[in-house]
Amino acid sequence: MINKTGIATREDLRKVMPPEERLERGACVIVECFERIPCNPCVDACPKGAIEIKGNINNLPEVDFEKCTGCGLCISSCPGLAIFVIDRNYSSRTTTTNHDHGLVMLPYEFLPLPKADDIVEGLSREGKKLCDARVVRVLLTKKQDRTAIISILVPRDLVMEVRNIRIPE
Ligand code: SF4
Ligand code: SF4
Repeated sequence: MINKTGIATREDLRKVMPPEERLERGACVIVECFERIPCNPCVDACPKGAIEIKGNINNLPEVDFEKCTGCGLCISSCPGLAIFVIDRNYSSRTTTTNHDHGLVMLPYEFLPLPKADDIVEGLSREGKKLCDARVVRVLLTKKQDRTAIISILVPRDLVMEVRNIRIPE
């Protein structure tokens, strides 16, 4: 159960994790939505039909990880900022110099926005600094002009831990 502070527990997170084999294959969505509320923009935002809310609109979203391409388009659709994409093996498939790093795509609603190549602080769900993170990409779609999608490189073992960023002073 999500704890009293509204922060997901290990048990909550286990329920929304893709199978190991899918995580190894590449970028994949993680929908950290744990409260039954009438909400569903994530369903319409996915061009692959990978997110579904079955039956009652208060039900939690379900993800078909085989349909998800890890594009990240659904991230900015979520009013609860509950959608992320992780790519645990990003550095092994790119020319990045940050070996053993993974990619996290997350929603961000503060200004100013960071820029590609900036070094920012990678924060936990509780807002604690976990690491320095290099910004790979900043995407602001016309449709969702308030919520940017920030892609950052973090140590591979932190892709399920870093869920926010802070721009250092
Ligand atoms: S990351 Fe892309 S493919 Fe995956 S659920 Fe989100 S919109 Fe769909
Ligand atoms: S849009 Fe966000 S809060 Fe709404 S159902 Fe989807 S994941 Fe949950």
